Amino acid sequence: MRMSVIGCGYLGAVHAAAMASIGHDVIGIDVDERKVAALDAGSAPFFEPQLTELLAEGRASGRLRFSSRMADAAGAQVHFLAVGTPQIPGGHAADLRYVDAAIDGLLPHLRRGDVIAGKSTVPVGTAARLAARVIDSGATVVWNPEFLREGWAVHDTLTPDRLVVGAETDSAGTRAVAVLRQVYAAAVAAGTPFLVTDLATAELVKGAANAFLATKISFINAMAEIAEASGADVALLADALGHDSRIGRRYLGAGIGFGGGCLPKDIRAFAARAEELGRGEAVGFLHEVDAINLRRRERAVRLVVDALGGLVFGRRIAVLGAAFKPFSDDIRDSPALDVAVRLRGLGADVVVTDPAALDNAAAAHPQLGYARHRDDALREADAVVIVTEWDEYRRDLSPTHAGGLVRGRIIIDGRNCLDAAAWRAAGWQYHGMGRR
Ligand code: NAD
Repeated sequence: MRMSVIGCGYLGAVHAAAMASIGHDVIGIDVDERKVAALDAGSAPFFEPQLTELLAEGRASGRLRFSSRMADAAGAQVHFLAVGTPQIPGGHAADLRYVDAAIDGLLPHLRRGDVIAGKSTVPVGTAARLAARVIDSGATVVWNPEFLREGWAVHDTLTPDRLVVGAETDSAGTRAVAVLRQVYAAAVAAGTPFLVTDLATAELVKGAANAFLATKISFINAMAEIAEASGADVALLADALGHDSRIGRRYLGAGIGFGGGCLPKDIRAFAARAEELGRGEAVGFLHEVDAINLRRRERAVRLVVDALGGLVFGRRIAVLGAAFKPFSDDIRDSPALDVAVRLRGLGADVVVTDPAALDNAAAAHPQLGYARHRDDALREADAVVIVTEWDEYRRDLSPTHAGGLVRGRIIIDGRNCLDAAAWRAAGWQYHGMGRR
């Protein structure tokens, strides 16, 4: 099937490459010409496992192209909308200007029967508004929210947990759902649940999923605060809770909390939209979820300061990690970098390292010190903070090796990802988050 993917960022580039890999004929469109040039040359403009291989495969097959001209979307049966929906400057709502600009650009090229499948995360009601905007073209809007995780994006796109398609129940909507079912025929044949809903429900599914995940993380981080006050250990608590099959252990990792280009802005936009709908009180708890999350960053900074005797001014601190999560170079609202920036703000000599996100971090925060190699960051450090649980730190860093490089054997485990006993046995002062 011929399709366009409008917006080729973390979501769209992967979607385009994945669709080509399952046999579709795909044109990816983006306003960022540098990104388009890189993608068209087969080079991933950001770090995402398996993406480079998929881009090469798409080029070789001739089924994957990229362009900055919206006119090149003409003739596609399905137009996937994957542009950004960031937080509006100075507010909590989603900024829909890129979605609207994409529709403006696409309108002159739409043909009767075209399907516009929204993948971006949008406030409920957006799809119906866009449907009204394109009605004269004869195109049909459906919403097909995306649940991929960065770092697992290729895997999640090719083998999703579920597919959700929201559509009107009229004949055009029914036909559009059939087209989407055809797009995803391989996954559906492999048993992926294909859930058909109305437009509003499909939009809400995404917001609700993110609200739930954020709440689960903040729940365990709230327990970490109580553990800190009472001398309990939140990691043991999470293990014990996680054995309850109604709860489950995933997303119960206490630490410096969530970040990235999705969860923080999505829960804020969800709450802002609920307020617009006169139902702000229904999701008032999301403000608390957000506040708990942000407090953990402060807590990590406090642990470093206390461990260094109350003053970090002029002390050298190795910050291991910059990306908001491992297997990604994404630094949007990264708790890791937030901790680094706060420590720098207190006058510490901060040296950040990260296997993938260093260039992004250096561009965004030139005031921080950087080391390309982990060991260079560790050398002569008075304290070490792990803020992104890359394998290079979590699994591969031996306390003995690190102990030979640093000046002070103090480690703050912002992700509770290390074996505390092993680090203590090697002479380190170990501090976890909410741990004894
Ligand atoms: P991103 O910023 O990486 O990518 C957005 C892309 O859209 C950019 O490359 C930008 O240049 C392009 N763009 C902006 N205006 C355009 C226009 N008028 N025409 C064509 N291209 C345009 O953002 P992202 O992380 O890929 O997120 C995109 C959407 O997907 C957001 O709504 C996000 O919430 C949602 N989402 C993201 C993820 C994720 O893990 N990143 C997961 C699920 C859903």
